[in-house]
Amino acid sequence: MSVRVRFAPSPTGFLHIGSLRTALYNYLFAKHHGGQVILRIEDTDRTRFVQGAMEEQIAMLEWAGVTFDEGPHVGGSYGPYIQSERFDLYREHAQALLANGTAYYAFDTAEELDAMRARQQAAGIAPRYDRSAMRNQYTLGDQETARLLADGAHHVIRLAVPLTRDVRYTDLVRGDVVVQGREIDDQILLKSDGFPTYHLANVVDDHLMAITHVIRAEEWLPSTPKHVLLYEAFGWTPPEFAHVPLLLNADRSKMSKRHGDVMVSDFRKRGYMPEALVNYVALCGWNPGTTEEFFTIGELTERFALDRVHKAGAVFDYRKLEWMNAEYLRKADAALLAEQLLPVLSERGYPFIDLDTVAATITLLRERVHFLADIADFGDYIFGDTLAALDADVEASLRANDALVQVCKGLVGTLDLSSSEAFKASVEQHAVAAGVKPGSLMKPLRMVLTHRDVGADLYTTLALIGKERCIARLASFAG
Ligand code: GLU
Repeated sequence: MSVRVRFAPSPTGFLHIGSLRTALYNYLFAKHHGGQVILRIEDTDRTRFVQGAMEEQIAMLEWAGVTFDEGPHVGGSYGPYIQSERFDLYREHAQALLANGTAYYAFDTAEELDAMRARQQAAGIAPRYDRSAMRNQYTLGDQETARLLADGAHHVIRLAVPLTRDVRYTDLVRGDVVVQGREIDDQILLKSDGFPTYHLANVVDDHLMAITHVIRAEEWLPSTPKHVLLYEAFGWTPPEFAHVPLLLNADRSKMSKRHGDVMVSDFRKRGYMPEALVNYVALCGWNPGTTEEFFTIGELTERFALDRVHKAGAVFDYRKLEWMNAEYLRKADAALLAEQLLPVLSERGYPFIDLDTVAATITLLRERVHFLADIADFGDYIFGDTLAALDADVEASLRANDALVQVCKGLVGTLDLSSSEAFKASVEQHAVAAGVKPGSLMKPLRMVLTHRDVGADLYTTLALIGKERCIARLASFAG
């Protein structure tokens, strides 16, 4: 049987970094086994629906390179992959469970349910639907139930969880799981507005879409026994389950907005390269079994296996990700990076941003930054002629070395940038004539021409600025 997995986000917000990892693991697992990965939008909870969230999530997945074989974006078709378009189907399936006695009608009001919970709390027992004490098909009988339904009474459909036996399944990450029936609530399957709950829609779709492996975040672990019971109730074989560990902050709390960037769009905005982000999140919760750290998505596909996914939560290390991004930045094709940087540069109004200059500047400066966009600041003296204000240290140093600065200004007539050697020779000759050591001119020259005291190779830097602009800066330097 060929592997079919799904990523099933709810459009309740933007794509979370943890969701990207879940999607990625599904993708890697499917592709490793030559199978398919399906994108399904689980929008049954209309109260939490966020307009545009689905489109945003799809766009972020695409940006990261996680692709799907079926789903709302494939071929522009909204297909059978959006649950709100399939409500009739879930209702029919709820009816089937009513018919075979594994689900039942319940008519309790919100007040009655609150009172039940209050009683349970007072008695010190865990809150769960008390089937034998509430107003439902069991306590009211079939006739009264039929009468209430005919009267249009508000009702839900609940799963009849067998109280006296255990629910068992094997999780591919966590091993054997056993939960006692009496710990599982009689889950609502169909709400009083006729909408399905997550549980019903999720199980029905996983079955109808022939999903073989459910790979999802650990937070769904408590739902799984209910799902196993639902498969049983329908007479279906359940898929395999694999619950992947949570992403944690350094203090081991769940990764959330309060602690920093958690949305994929935040990482993108910050300037992370998708390849670096994907590489890093793959390693949060999975390891290749070696100390290797750099993997393309293709290499991850080759190596990925669920038995190397950890049970323990994975701490998300922003600094490590930053380091990894810098490594990717160093290896990436400078021409491609230049195209990406161009919009940022033109937005800033820089005048000297032809692609060759930008690519050469990236090559020159990328050792010194973590993010591509940082080069827009770093390379200001190449991309434009409005130099950053001198910082206090640079200004003090220039003042202390005013004699050397004056010698540098004298280079106006002789500066030669035709080659690295010619540059050195022109500075040397000028220095000797002025009676100073040639080496002593390099730092003040850099400061005058770039307003910085450090930077990449001076000749390459000046050649990128160009002789004419260098001379203009020397001539106009007021020092
Ligand atoms: N709709 C659920 C979510 O938002 C899917 C959970 C699952 O994969 O079963 O994550």
